[in-house]
Amino acid sequence: MASLSTATFIGLRRVPSPPSCSRAPPGDLAPVHPPHLKIRAAKTSPKLSGRALRVAVVGGGPAGGAAAEALAKGGVETVLIERKLDNCKPCGGAIPLCMVGEFDLPLDIIDRRVTKMKMISPSNVAVDIGRTLKPHEYIGMVRREVLDAFLRDRASEAGATIINGLFLRMDTPESGSRGPYKIYYTQYEGGSAGGTRKEMEVDAVIGADGANSRVAKSIGAGDYDYAIAFQERVKIPDGKMEYYKDLAEMYVGDDVSPDFYGWVFPKCDHVAVGTGTVTHKSEIKRFQAATRLRARDKIEGGKIIRVEAHPIPEHPRPRRVLDRVALVGDAAGYVTKCSGEGIYFAAKSGRMCAEAIVEGSENGTRMINEADLRTYLKKFDQTYWPTYKVLDILQKVFYRSNPAREAFVEMCADEYVQKMTFDSYLYKKVVPGNPLEDLKLAVNTIGSLVRANALRNEMSKLTQ
Ligand SMILES: Cc1cc2nc3c(=O)[nH]c(=O)nc-3n(C[C@H](O)[C@H](O)[C@H](O)COP(=O)(O)OP(=O)(O)OC[C@H]3O[C@@H](n4cnc5c(N)ncnc54)[C@H](O)[C@@H]3O)c2cc1C
Repeated sequence: MASLSTATFIGLRRVPSPPSCSRAPPGDLAPVHPPHLKIRAAKTSPKLSGRALRVAVVGGGPAGGAAAEALAKGGVETVLIERKLDNCKPCGGAIPLCMVGEFDLPLDIIDRRVTKMKMISPSNVAVDIGRTLKPHEYIGMVRREVLDAFLRDRASEAGATIINGLFLRMDTPESGSRGPYKIYYTQYEGGSAGGTRKEMEVDAVIGADGANSRVAKSIGAGDYDYAIAFQERVKIPDGKMEYYKDLAEMYVGDDVSPDFYGWVFPKCDHVAVGTGTVTHKSEIKRFQAATRLRARDKIEGGKIIRVEAHPIPEHPRPRRVLDRVALVGDAAGYVTKCSGEGIYFAAKSGRMCAEAIVEGSENGTRMINEADLRTYLKKFDQTYWPTYKVLDILQKVFYRSNPAREAFVEMCADEYVQKMTFDSYLYKKVVPGNPLEDLKLAVNTIGSLVRANALRNEMSKLTQ
C-alpha cells in the first residue's frame, strides 16, 4: 500500500529530492521518463532580435501571480491581466506549510496558524488530529484577497506589468508558425466602469484564469467535471472566536455533502463555513444549512458578512498545452479530490510553467515552442500525480456512505494515519511508508470498513 510521509525539509525549505513516481495520469500528458534518461535536442528555435520574449499571463490568482514573478525574474517581458485587482476569490484559504517556505510568504499575511483539526463524523464523533505536529508545523489560513495581492505585487516588483483588464479572446497564429498571438481585452483605468477595448501581441500565453477559463476555451482545451463549493464568512463573538484561534473543523456526512466535506476554517476576525458537492449541485444550499447546523453551538450569535460560491475542478482538462499556450492552476484543473485543495498546486504549476518558458527561451532571448511547455507538464505530473491518485482513492473509499465516513473518522484517531495525513498535506510528498505500520493500518482499515459495512447492513434492515 502506498503511503504518505515527510519530504526532506530543512527548516521550511525543501531539499531537492528525485521525483517519486514514473507513471503519468490520463489526458494529454507527455510520456514520463526516468530522470537519468532525459534527452535534450539542440536548441533550434530562433534568437529574438532587439527584444525579449513577450508572455501574457491571464488571471492574477496564485497561479498567475507566481507565473508572472518567475517569468519577469527570468528575463521575459511579462504582462499580467487581472479583471479585478481586489478580487476576493471564494476560498477556504488553507495552505500547506511548504508553501510558506517555497514562496517566501511573510508571516503577517497568514491570518491563523492552525495546529488542531477536528474531524467530525456523521454521528458527531469528533476526533482531534494534529497531535503528531512538530512545534513549528501548522496549516496556514489566508484571506485570498491578501495572498493574491501579495503575489501580484511581488511579480510587479520583479518587473511584470500588471494590467487591470478583462481578457476577452485571442487570435492564434497558424499552428507551428512563429507569428504572434493577438489578445483582445478591456482595460479598466481610473475606476472607469466600462473600460477601454485594447489589443496586444505576445509570443506565448499562460491561462491562469481559473475554473471558467476563457484561455482554455480559446484553445479548445475541453471540459472537466466540477464541484460547486459554497461558503459563508461568519463574524462570531470574540469569545467564540477564541475557540477557533488555532483550530479548524471538517464535518463529514450525507447531511453536509454526499461526496465532499463541510468545513469551519478560522480567519483573522471571522470563520469561513462551507461545503461542496459534485453530484448534487442543486442541493448545495441544503448542505450548507446542515453544515451551519452541525457547528451551531460554536458559531451561534454570528453574523454572516459574505456569501460566496464557485466551481472547483475535479480533474485536469483533456488538453493543457497547445502550441505556445499553457494552462495552469484551476484553468488546467489541478485541485485534489478528497481535500479540495488547489492554492498550492496553482502557485506551483504557475511557477513551473514560467520556469519552463524561461529555460526554453534561454532567459527570454529565443522563441519557444510546444515542446518547451510540455516540459512543465511532465515535471508537474511526475511530482504530483501520486498525491492526486492517493486522494482520489481515499475519496472513493471513504466518502461513499455514512458508515464508511464513520470508519474514516475512526481511522483518523490512529497516530500513524495522522502523521501520514499531515505530513503529506504539509509537505506534498507521497513516498513508500513504514511497511509494518502500513500493514497495521491496512488491517485496521479493513476492520473499520467491515464494521462500517455491518453497520450499513443493519441500517438498511431497519429502513426496509
Ligand atoms: C469555496 C472554495 C473553498 C476552497 N478552499 C480551498 C482551501 O481552503 N485551500 C485550497 O488550497 N484551495 C481551496 N479552494 C480551491 C482554490 O480556491 C483554487 O484551487 C485556487 O484559487 C486556484 O487558483 P488559480 O490562480 O488557478 O485560480 P483563481 O484563484 O480562480 O484565480 C483566477 C484569477 O483570474 C481572474 N480572471 C478570470 N477570468 C479572467 C479574465 N477573463 N480576464 C482577466 N482575469 C480573469 C480572476 O479574477 C482571478 O483573480 C477552494 C475553492 C472554493 C471554491
